[in-house]
Amino acid sequence: MPNSEFYLKTLESIVSQPTAPFHEERVCHKITSFLKEIGVPFEIDRWGNIIAHYQKGRVSPPLALMAHTDHPALELTERVAPPEIKGANWTAKLMGGVASRYFDQPSPVLLFTLGSDKPIAGEIVGHSSTIAGQRGINLYLNISDDSGLQAGDFGIWHLPNFQLSDGFIYARVIDDLVGCTATLLTLWKLVQEGAEADLYGLFTRAEEVGLVGATLLLQNQAIPKNCFVISLEASKTLPGALQGEGPVIRVGDRGVTFSETAEFVLKAAANKMGSDIVKVQEPKVKIQRQLMSGGYCEASAAVRSGYNATGLAFPLGNYHNMAADGTLQMENIHEADFITGVELLYETALLMAQYEELLTEQFLTEDKPSQDADRLLQTADYIKSE
Ligand SMILES: [Zn+2]
Repeated sequence: MPNSEFYLKTLESIVSQPTAPFHEERVCHKITSFLKEIGVPFEIDRWGNIIAHYQKGRVSPPLALMAHTDHPALELTERVAPPEIKGANWTAKLMGGVASRYFDQPSPVLLFTLGSDKPIAGEIVGHSSTIAGQRGINLYLNISDDSGLQAGDFGIWHLPNFQLSDGFIYARVIDDLVGCTATLLTLWKLVQEGAEADLYGLFTRAEEVGLVGATLLLQNQAIPKNCFVISLEASKTLPGALQGEGPVIRVGDRGVTFSETAEFVLKAAANKMGSDIVKVQEPKVKIQRQLMSGGYCEASAAVRSGYNATGLAFPLGNYHNMAADGTLQMENIHEADFITGVELLYETALLMAQYEELLTEQFLTEDKPSQDADRLLQTADYIKSE
């Protein structure tokens, strides 16, 4: 694919930014400078969510792609630690879902203070749980040179930013900077092609601590009520949602069933690209469709706010950096799943212009010959006569 090199370069530049819930400013600055470069207008709402809008021609209903700018990380709480934790001089809290056993072994981190991009090295040397579950995990750190740090600063796992190997993309953060990048690239392609479309790009904050930014953005109707919303996520692989088998049209999450009204257009685009998910045909492209029940995603916030919403997921290895060996490692996705996902989103944005015609097109079922209808008529008498 001709654009894949540019797609991967763009992904690398976004995922290389350190981020955490409530500390998304570096990623957000990359996103807004990309939007400025391609000339797509945007607004920043009062909570810091970015709302970009590409509009050309009269297309209705509009489409919105939504992705979050944060990733599980830690936030420093106080410059003190329990004496029984050897070497610890700071306490931090875990922000986002990582199981506590991943902190049983010492783990290196990089810390950042507001206004400086210079990382300060530290190490997680212990942990404790204040309440049951992942939200109450305290982490204890050894930071030898901590003069530039204060409570409220954040830290990320010290892992490489980005690597390509054997058709896979490895990065410290795939979830959900891949969704942000896919949104940017869809906007970029619409601009390149001068396409008629009405597409919002929503870049939200603090998803990992409970869909906070997305819920506020949607409740405040930052986008029109008739907008179809597609939540983009990197989501834990599952049977039927495997790496290298294509992006996954996500029919629901752990708790919520998404909307057929919105999914319909995604399926129509998949069909147009030659996928076999809804129609039996020799597949030209790999796309999957599955309930991704591993966690919640922002589409459920959109459904609860009254939108027609669905999801597209990139099957993710080492979800939230949790590797099978009990250590924190880079997350990974398959290169082809990422590239196909961007193409699918672009085709979906284009298809919205033909939404009314699509509704009358029976692409979801095989065209059955009319003899079958005649046979039903002929044999209905057996049913009527007792
Ligand atoms: Zn996540």
